[in-house]
Amino acid sequence: MSEKKRHLYRYFFFFAIGFIAITLLELAFRQLIQLDQPLSPLLFPAMTIFLLVFHVMVAGFMLMKYLCDKKHLYLVAIACAFAGSAIMMVGTLHSFPAWFMCHSSSIANYNDAIIFFTFRNMMMAMLFAASVVLFRQQKWAERGAWFHTIIVSGILCFTLLMLILAYLYSSYNPLLHVSLVDNETHAFTTLWNDFLSLLLVALWTLTLLLLLRVSQLKNIFWFSGGFFCICYIFTMLFLLSDRNSDGLAWYQARFFEATSTLFIIFTLLYDIFNLYRDSRNKYLHSYQNSIRDPLTRLHNRSYFYDTLVKQLAEASALRPVSVIVSDLDRFKRINDTYGHLQGDKVIQFVASVLQQAVRLDDVAARIGGEEFALLLTNTTAQDAQNIAERIRLTLAGYDAATSQQQLPEPITISLGVYTATSPLLSAETCVERADKAMYQAKETGRNRVVVWEK
Ligand code: GH3
Ligand code: MG
Ligand code: MG
Repeated sequence: MSEKKRHLYRYFFFFAIGFIAITLLELAFRQLIQLDQPLSPLLFPAMTIFLLVFHVMVAGFMLMKYLCDKKHLYLVAIACAFAGSAIMMVGTLHSFPAWFMCHSSSIANYNDAIIFFTFRNMMMAMLFAASVVLFRQQKWAERGAWFHTIIVSGILCFTLLMLILAYLYSSYNPLLHVSLVDNETHAFTTLWNDFLSLLLVALWTLTLLLLLRVSQLKNIFWFSGGFFCICYIFTMLFLLSDRNSDGLAWYQARFFEATSTLFIIFTLLYDIFNLYRDSRNKYLHSYQNSIRDPLTRLHNRSYFYDTLVKQLAEASALRPVSVIVSDLDRFKRINDTYGHLQGDKVIQFVASVLQQAVRLDDVAARIGGEEFALLLTNTTAQDAQNIAERIRLTLAGYDAATSQQQLPEPITISLGVYTATSPLLSAETCVERADKAMYQAKETGRNRVVVWEK
């Protein structure tokens, strides 16, 4: 599928999911809140508190993600959008004194609530757009600390400005006060109905279009960001459809806001889970690389010795630990005759034979060029000798045809066996003794197994 087609599919998927989600939310809302029953005066402040907590969480997540990885400079704008929004919601809560003053006679200040709502939306839509622009210019994040300082300061100043403006336009400051709702009749004024609400719809729509264009919804984060914009556009439309500020639309607006923020929280959790899984996979991968030999994928020398030290600590006559050291016979000749690449193939083939000859608990390691060591847990000298003999015979039985050209000609191996039955011996001594037995095998004609004897 071409890239363009894939984009179109993603957009289609996004709008389809958005449409279904909004419809379901609308149905859920209608089920939850029915107009024929009187609503608690605490419901709206309670929903606002929920939203406030959600927004503080998102702001914290975004900020931490940026601090962990400075390439996510664009997240600072989103963190400030949510943090600023949470602060403005404190102002909104202040307009509904009933939620914390049980016997208060004070009446809700609907006008202040909608002033905070307006500035909150303007600030969030603009900071979201700024975040999308910063995401597009991700290379900017590499420009150094001074650039980050400028951008972060700019975003903070903008957020602060919006907070101050919201405060100045609310009833706290009679000089700049505007009226968006009549506190007596609760009816929206024309300034809200004919200008501000439409301005907010336009702002969120522009932000959504910018987000879709730039991010192309390539990951779930921007998908949830787009859904967030859609929810706010619908929130505005609900408010526009309601002529009174104490109608159902406010509850619906809060419900949509809370759901879309929850969606963002879930995508952040999903992101954290993914990061955890990736880093764990990377750790496991690099751990395996640190204990394995790159050519044969057998264990390496240091892993072999570390395991041997641990096993020897528990060695006894009832729990013997056997070590087999082996070396290919006349291997130089293979290299000289067929070249190093073919030599490597031979080493890989022998490694696979050794790996298949041991149990899962045993350790098969490459401890030198064409030298291997096996660590056999709970294996007596007799059993170890049998295993070594089996390996020798198996390898000697292959030729070029039966090894699928991995061996250019039949090859043999010499093996030395040592079995420890006491924890007093060091790992080095055990390997040295098995090595001595192996050299004895070489000296006595190669292609044989020798068990170490005093
Ligand atoms: P012997 O029977 O006495 O063991 O004779 P040998 O020719 O096998 O002698 P030795 O064990 O000393 O030879 C080791 C050779 O293994 C020398 C080196 O060229 C070769 N070798 C070591 N590491 C590698 C490797 O990673 N790849 C290849 N192709 N050859 C290696
Ligand atoms: Mg050799
Ligand atoms: Mg050798």
